Amino acid sequence: MEYAKKTGWIEVICGSMFSGKTEELIRRMRRVQFAQRSLAIFKPKIDTRYSVEEVVSHDAKSIKSITVSCSAEILEHTLAGGVEVIGIDEAQFLDNGIIEVAQTLANQGVRVIIAGLDTDFRGIPFGPMPYLMAIAEYVTKEHAICVHCGDLANHSHRLTKSDKIVELGEKDIYEPVCRHCFNKLRKKNAD
Ligand code: ZN
Repeated sequence: MEYAKKTGWIEVICGSMFSGKTEELIRRMRRVQFAQRSLAIFKPKIDTRYSVEEVVSHDAKSIKSITVSCSAEILEHTLAGGVEVIGIDEAQFLDNGIIEVAQTLANQGVRVIIAGLDTDFRGIPFGPMPYLMAIAEYVTKEHAICVHCGDLANHSHRLTKSDKIVELGEKDIYEPVCRHCFNKLRKKNAD
C-alpha cells in the first residue's frame, strides 16, 4: 500500500509495573480500530503471562497480538502487511534492533506505539527503552501508586532475592513503589 505523506512517528508509553502502560496501549489501539486503520500489535516471545496470542492488561482487557522472537520480525510483518499503525508491548525485552526498526517504520509513514518498563528492578534503564524514549516524538510516563506510602510510584520493587534482570512475575514478585520507599527498601535489602 501507499502511505500518505507526512504520517509516521514514534510514541512511547513507559512506567513501572502496574502503572497502566498496557491499558493505555490498548486504549490507543482501540481508537485506531474505530478509525478503521490497519493495525498490528507485537510482543516479544519472553512475555508469556496470561496468553500467548493476545496483549492482556492487568484489568484483563485484551486485543490480538503477534508474538515475535526478534525485532526484525516486526519490520517484516508490518511492511508485508501494509500496516498503518503498530503497537509493541513489553518492548524492554526486545533486542536493540528495535531502535532501527522503529525509525525505519516511522520514516516510512507508520505510527509506532511502544509500551514498556522504563527501568528494571534495580532502577536502571531497561534494554532499548531509554533509546526509544530519546528518539520518540511523544513520551508518556504512567505511574502506579506506591504500596508503602500512597505517593506516585515509578519503580518496580522486586520482592524475591533473584538477581536476574528478567524475572517474570506479577504482584507475587513485584510491587510498585515511589523513589523514597524504593531507596529505603534497596538499602534494607543490601544490609
Ligand atoms: Zn512510597
